[in-house]
Amino acid sequence: MTKVAIIRCEKNEERCPLTGCINCLMAGKEGFAEYQDAVPAGVFTCRCPGDNVANLAKILKSKGAEAIHFCTCTFAAKTENGWKMENGGFCDHVDALMEQVHEATGLPCVKGSAHLPEGYVPEKL
Ligand code: SF4
Ligand code: SF4
Repeated sequence: MTKVAIIRCEKNEERCPLTGCINCLMAGKEGFAEYQDAVPAGVFTCRCPGDNVANLAKILKSKGAEAIHFCTCTFAAKTENGWKMENGGFCDHVDALMEQVHEATGLPCVKGSAHLPEGYVPEKL
């Protein structure tokens, strides 16, 4: 069993209740495919400009998280042809946030959750 936490973006918090993220986590699919049986460790919402993300990550670790994922919508956007990375997602500095999370916790930090863009392999720190 792997306890997996998610950090989502405030820009999407009133439009998506993480349905796809949670379903994929529980099913071990998409961004969570590397886990045999993942269970949710918790969810936090990042707020611009993300100054508090390291503290959020430390709390997630204290609650038992063994890995922390950033939502796919932070770096990809939905188009009529599916989710694409070309124009980015909600966050233009999610890579820097991932580094902060990884440095603050020592935990694997993974870029991706649900509906991965075609051909994209989740980046991991
Ligand atoms: S990745 Fe998809 S399911 Fe997860 S919060 Fe973003 S839009 Fe919602
Ligand atoms: S810093 Fe990035 S991930 Fe965090 S709320 Fe702002 S846009 Fe979203």
